[in-house]
Amino acid sequence: MNRKPNIAVVGATGVVGSTFLKVLEERDFPFENIYFMASAKSAGKKLPFKGKEYVVEELTENSFDKPIDIALFSAGGGTSAKFAPIAASKGVVVVDNSSQWRMDPEVPLVVPEVNPQDIEWNKGIIANPNCSTIQAMVALKPLQDKYGIKRVIYSTYQAVSGSGVKGISDLKNGLEGKDEPLQAYAHPIAGNCLPHIDVFTENGYTKEEMKMINETHKILGDDDIKVTATTVRVPVFDSHSESINIELEKPFEIEDIFELFKNAPGVVLQDDVENNVYPLALDAAGTDPVYIGRIRRDFSVDNGLNIWVVADNIRKGAATNAIQIAEELLKVLED
Ligand code: NAP
Repeated sequence: MNRKPNIAVVGATGVVGSTFLKVLEERDFPFENIYFMASAKSAGKKLPFKGKEYVVEELTENSFDKPIDIALFSAGGGTSAKFAPIAASKGVVVVDNSSQWRMDPEVPLVVPEVNPQDIEWNKGIIANPNCSTIQAMVALKPLQDKYGIKRVIYSTYQAVSGSGVKGISDLKNGLEGKDEPLQAYAHPIAGNCLPHIDVFTENGYTKEEMKMINETHKILGDDDIKVTATTVRVPVFDSHSESINIELEKPFEIEDIFELFKNAPGVVLQDDVENNVYPLALDAAGTDPVYIGRIRRDFSVDNGLNIWVVADNIRKGAATNAIQIAEELLKVLED
């Protein structure tokens, strides 16, 4: 493509959508025309972007009749199920944030630091992984490449912004002692930890846990890695924290692991326990890197490793990762 692309942001009024606007602006993403879309409820609303005001359009079956090259979707699975194929049929490449298309074998599931090459075989839809998976992939890829991975145990501590505006409001109301009905959760989140993210599936795992397991296999391209997960919602507004326990295939020196993460793409190493330095949700919030610390050997198994991984779930876990995909896509479209 030897011109700037036309872009659509679908779900522009939501938590992820409004971060799309911020990140597009910060990264100076190139565009000729940009369109902001949401439900009928928001049609006509004005959104400030790059010093101008844009009117939000209602997403309809005709929205992609105008020339649009890339559409960034964050408007829920149902909306993506219906509208992403319509957009793709009209020549748009959709980068989708919902879980709708992630495990479809025809759809690449991409973390740009890990598997950017998968963007090339897209057929009009590219899926952005689950927020908790993205940060784990950035941490696991360098380990997979150097040592091979046998088994992974995820234990997550996830922020309420991962549940959109309703989750944020449940925590705020709880902290302010307001007796409002819960909107996002089955139990109060203020002062609590809920081992329940998304719905429960027949095998006793939640859908969030199964997403982490299945998406890990697809992104790392290895179904033989044994993976299990317990995902927990905690009373934190922004940034997911994860304890990841890994059994590597090959022996390692702990100093080499520090060195590996120091040089890994997208990673900031924060590990100086003598000075109480380790990744924290409050520090990660509003930033793009994946922070890794508390690196230590798991002495209970051969080649065992423990790490603590923190990232902003709305930025690297959603908007930033999707925009990085779009940046890579521009390179592919130029070829
Ligand atoms: P949200 O704050 O509730 O925002 C939802 C957005 O979707 C709003 O802009 C809404 O528009 C729009 N929308 C809803 N129904 C629509 C329809 N029928 N047609 C067009 N637009 C419609 O939710 P969110 O947290 O931003 O999440 C959005 C999506 O991103 C979800 O699929 C979610 O799973 C995914 N995601 C979220 C996170 C996260 O950490 N929050 C991370 C990764 C992926 P109105 O304002 O007009 O209703």
